[in-house]
Amino acid sequence: MLAIGVVGASGVRATEESTPAKELFGRVHAPAPPMPGSIRAIGLPARGCLAGAVALPPDGPYWQAMRPSRNRRFGHPRLIALIERLAREARGDGWPGLLVGDLAQPRGGPMLSGHASHQTGLDADIWLSPSPERRLSEEERETLPAPSVLREGTRTVDPERFGPAHIALIRRAASYPEVARIFVHPGIKQVLCAVAGADRAWLSKIRPWWGHDSHFHLRLRCPENEPLCRDQEPPPEDDGCGAELAWWLSEEPWRPKPPTPPPPPLTLRELPPECRSVLRAPRRRERKAASGSRPRVAHSGSSLVGARLGELADQDEDVDDTEQEQEKPRQVQSAVLGVGGDEQS
Ligand SMILES: [Zn+2]
Repeated sequence: MLAIGVVGASGVRATEESTPAKELFGRVHAPAPPMPGSIRAIGLPARGCLAGAVALPPDGPYWQAMRPSRNRRFGHPRLIALIERLAREARGDGWPGLLVGDLAQPRGGPMLSGHASHQTGLDADIWLSPSPERRLSEEERETLPAPSVLREGTRTVDPERFGPAHIALIRRAASYPEVARIFVHPGIKQVLCAVAGADRAWLSKIRPWWGHDSHFHLRLRCPENEPLCRDQEPPPEDDGCGAELAWWLSEEPWRPKPPTPPPPPLTLRELPPECRSVLRAPRRRERKAASGSRPRVAHSGSSLVGARLGELADQDEDVDDTEQEQEKPRQVQSAVLGVGGDEQS
């Protein structure tokens, strides 16, 4: 019996080591407490995890959280605070309210579907459609489509769907010093470059990427006093409206290439060692229950992703799970990058 027990125990360890980390982090439904020293964000956006996560309330002043079944409303307290601030200040600019897409899983880490990054609680997707004034039902939050702002069949923004209010929203988000990057479709960057005028410093944060035509993705820098959090390299300092944008607007990034097999998914060994403790920590005792989330669901996964230019190895790419906007970027992206990506995205 003893022998069986030992075999069993080692079997469990071996299983955890070889299990894709997305399977482990994707099935945890509650946050871990912060680590000693109030450490929360651990590692890189596409190779990390999150302790001491806070849930974005499903409803707030001027925001509504979408796709509740995914259980991805968790973030670093700085991210939650920033979303609250953006919602409030954008309202003052004339944007009625935010529809908030994915943040991170309760303990961050790789996801079973949809994103390569969003692992450290410092990334958030914000829809490019304003929130209606009424409260959306649970069903609407699951099923309401996220419409593209592009002219159908093109890589150019439709001025009917992307106008001054959208520009003001993105510009507002980029104005916050704690925001490091904002990912948008190249067609959106093209518009921002055209309207920016003399004040162009914020444009360096606006990073073109595949997808991101129905939402933008904002990424915070590592907060101070987070010694385990790792920032990517900062983006190039120029406005990115020259050669870089020209490349994105050329045929090259969109040309299909033969697909390559996806690399094996991340395992715990490839994440910072502290992520093991985060995964194993007893659930955080919270006075306030994290309301509204209903962990179920397994969206169909996809593999894509990789990196390019200054973003190399950063896995900025990110795809919303919304089917109608995902299929094409997915295929194009994996084909173009030719590297398949380091993670399931
Ligand atoms: Zn994202």
